[in-house]
Amino acid sequence: MNKKQIDMLFEKLALNYPKENFSEDLIKEWSSVLSEYDYDDVNRNLDNLLSDKVFLYVPPKLMTMVSGLTKKYKKVDFNKLIHFCKFCKRPFNNINECHSHEDRCSAINYIESKSKKYNWDFTSQKKAMLYQMTDSDFDKFYNTFLKSVQTITISDTEKKMIENIFNPPKIREAKEFLKGT
Ligand SMILES: [Zn+2]
Repeated sequence: MNKKQIDMLFEKLALNYPKENFSEDLIKEWSSVLSEYDYDDVNRNLDNLLSDKVFLYVPPKLMTMVSGLTKKYKKVDFNKLIHFCKFCKRPFNNINECHSHEDRCSAINYIESKSKKYNWDFTSQKKAMLYQMTDSDFDKFYNTFLKSVQTITISDTEKKMIENIFNPPKIREAKEFLKGT
């Protein structure tokens, strides 16, 4: 199976075991084994396991998930594959670099589309500059930008969405709770 199919299996596991922490290391370790098997085979096995009450609270182990199945593919080293940014399709050798670029890329896409919407200055030079900024400079810029959108937008949903970024509901509830005590 490929990386996307492995992600789908982990999404299924995460949905069924919301309290379980599937670390990057574990995902990497499991991926190298799972890549040798057929997605449909493992997925079918997993569905059976999930309906078993033994696995009501504890996720099945990797070896249980692939038990009885035949390996169908050669081992794939996902660290050696080329990864493409899902927004601009830029290639990366390293998956972590690709992910952090994608975060930046999606934020810049947002800035570009909102700038167009509100007729704010957005040139290709500015865009290039946004890609070159350090993380902390970019975060500052992005926060200021979000605040401007929050002020100007007439959509209550958008206002609320931005408010949730600055002030996540859980923290807000905790503050309210502390105020009450
Ligand atoms: Zn990109």
